[in-house]
Amino acid sequence: MRLLLPLLLLLICCTCDRAPEKEIPPRPRPNILFIMSDDHAQRAISAYTDELIHTPNLDRIADEGMLFRNSFVTNSICAPSRAAILTGKYSHLNGKIDNLSPFNPDQWTFPEALQRAGYRTSLIGKHHLKALPRGFDEFYGLIGQGSYYSPVFVHNGDTLEAAEGYTSTLITDYALAELRRSAAAETDQPFCMLYWHKAPHRNWMPDTSDLPGLLDKRYPLPANLRDDYQGRRAAEHADMRIADMFTSLDLKVTRDYQYPDPGTGGATFIKDPQFDQASNFQRQLGRLTPAQQRAWEPFLKRVGEEWLAVKGTPAELEWRYQRYLQDYLASVKSVDDNVGRVLDYLEESGLAENTIVIYTSDQGFYLGEHGWYDKRFMYEESHRTPLMIRYPAVVKAGSSNEDLVLNIDLSATLLDFAGLTPPEDLQGASLKPLLEGQTPEDWRDDIYYRYYQQMNSYHRVARHEGVRDERYKLIHFTEEGLAGYELYDLVEDPTEMNNRIDDPALEAVKTRLLERLGKLRQELKVASK
Ligand code: CA
Repeated sequence: MRLLLPLLLLLICCTCDRAPEKEIPPRPRPNILFIMSDDHAQRAISAYTDELIHTPNLDRIADEGMLFRNSFVTNSICAPSRAAILTGKYSHLNGKIDNLSPFNPDQWTFPEALQRAGYRTSLIGKHHLKALPRGFDEFYGLIGQGSYYSPVFVHNGDTLEAAEGYTSTLITDYALAELRRSAAAETDQPFCMLYWHKAPHRNWMPDTSDLPGLLDKRYPLPANLRDDYQGRRAAEHADMRIADMFTSLDLKVTRDYQYPDPGTGGATFIKDPQFDQASNFQRQLGRLTPAQQRAWEPFLKRVGEEWLAVKGTPAELEWRYQRYLQDYLASVKSVDDNVGRVLDYLEESGLAENTIVIYTSDQGFYLGEHGWYDKRFMYEESHRTPLMIRYPAVVKAGSSNEDLVLNIDLSATLLDFAGLTPPEDLQGASLKPLLEGQTPEDWRDDIYYRYYQQMNSYHRVARHEGVRDERYKLIHFTEEGLAGYELYDLVEDPTEMNNRIDDPALEAVKTRLLERLGKLRQELKVASK
């Protein structure tokens, strides 16, 4: 018996060494559906919190995939964030440091790399880079910011007639047509589609179907809606308060009820006497078809009458806040409805199993926190961005992740899943191990941030950089006249109201983060302070 056992083991091992009888066929390369919205705060997705809105379709992506609870951007403003996503690099290396600087379309981007590797690539919706990045087989793009109604699209270089309809729906119609074409082609060619919404970017014009009942909705007020900005000079200096929004363009008060517009709207730098937002809003309403105008009429009448009742009273700020959230969240609802159409198509067509679906935004947004709308600052609401990834073949349904992840990680992740080697100078890291449930031991402990746009532009936000780890955040404002540091303990003070840069109790934290800031600048090849 003692001799038999080793012999038996030997036999078993010999069997192990043989090639398996059935070869497991390699999984075909995954399709990629990269969904992005514009200015979508985590707080406006019910997978994160249901305090403001129910987004059943967006939640499907998290329920059937992974929700990233700590996802951030490297520069919280539209076009630079898009450039960072496409190139996998921080702004100082991809060159698109602010909304005004040009994007060099000749540099490496992940869609072009996928196209070279045999993917059919498309970009449908808002890209917001004046120069179109190369590498798309099919392109239906909005010009600039685009409008909520009757938008003008560019199709593969040709400017089309204004399309009739609501932009979130039209972008989705084009996306579905492209997906159907890919499915009908009956080839093995995988696709990578960038399906990028304009909504919920300012000026938040809801679809006509969402107008009835909208003015009766009420949302909870953030505790710091009436922030006094004590100890935070750059925040005090910024021009992005709900109290100063355009009453016309933003809050939808027409010229019949208020003229001229009393709001700054973040545009105090514009000295042109012809700059007239009330007339601008009127022009936008002129884009509506007669049927759409009829749907808007009772809504605009009630908004105007409410404004006359609250204007100049203590109730004005809360009215402005409710008015803002009603429209912002209605714009989100339309994105949610339309994403649902696309997810349904993936199910019906059998594509869902082998398609990576990403949902993210180009950054987060203030929904009344600090009394604000807009983004730009390294404070949590705009430093964070939503991120959910579904890929049934790999990602466990209903999973979530708490690691610090960045928008520049997405290109590395997609290359990884497509079996491609990322270029050496890519600064993002693949999220594939995280999606497989195994965070590498050397995963980053902190993240670098930098905002570059000059003060003399929209919203007057001082330039700054900073470092955030799991618990603390150090912000360094570099703007002349507003230069200085801020330090926050995000566990004790999650809404960042208490700047503790001079608190002796946090001296060691301050020293450590200052050192990390210097090291990160070096590692990331940031040229100067
Ligand atoms: Ca944006």
